[in-house]
Amino acid sequence: MRISVSQINEWLKCQRSWEFSRARKTFAPPSKSLIIGSAYHAALEENFKQKILTGVDLPVEKVKMAYIASVSETFDKWTDSETLFCSIPDSDNTADFCVIAGYRMIEKYMEEVAPGIEPAEVETSKWLDLGNHQLLCRIDLITTSGTVIDHKTSSRMKTLPDNSIQPAAYCLAVGSMDFQYHLITTAAKTAVSIQPIEITPFSLSWFVKLANSVADQMEKGICVPNPNGWWCSRTYCDYYDLCRTDPRKF
Ligand code: SF4
Repeated sequence: MRISVSQINEWLKCQRSWEFSRARKTFAPPSKSLIIGSAYHAALEENFKQKILTGVDLPVEKVKMAYIASVSETFDKWTDSETLFCSIPDSDNTADFCVIAGYRMIEKYMEEVAPGIEPAEVETSKWLDLGNHQLLCRIDLITTSGTVIDHKTSSRMKTLPDNSIQPAAYCLAVGSMDFQYHLITTAAKTAVSIQPIEITPFSLSWFVKLANSVADQMEKGICVPNPNGWWCSRTYCDYYDLCRTDPRKF
């Protein structure tokens, strides 16, 4: 079976949510934080892709233009979509917030972090052979010295867990033992944090066992709902109404 890291994460949180989003191809409109995160990734991709060729960063204003283009594309897509089962709420305020927060984040990252990065590969996809299954890894950035970097956006500063599956999966796919999260906050006082994650041979083999077990379960197609957590609410689950209030779906 072919799976991705995000599918494993979703499966571990709620299998029925995974079923809605993957097996049934039911897609929900993006949240405000997802719009910001996607556009931020697109803007940094624009910068680092050309930096592989030129060796220098783009002017900040050009990176901001790439960010705005991505935000606009998302809004156009969901505004015009006839398959949308609900719309992006509060779209005017959401658009303003996305632009202001994104500009702050780009200025911060381009000033404090980007100049020290020598990119080798940007937004690259690699298939990892798990033995029984194949895992798709979508990697934000690999530097010329082999460091794997994943960009994260968040409303607040926090320490990201060093035992999550993403670092192990990506390091296995690249053949590296060097992983960093680059976390930036969307808050008014934007802050950026570089968080190296310790990778060990045991954490890699532990991950392979986990990923194969999840894929084995997915193949069986039994998707058990998990309501025991903060994610099972109208605020955090895009499929709440489909799952909890529409009996025709089951
Ligand atoms: S409503 Fe709860 S149980 Fe249903 S898909 Fe969402 S998180 Fe899972």
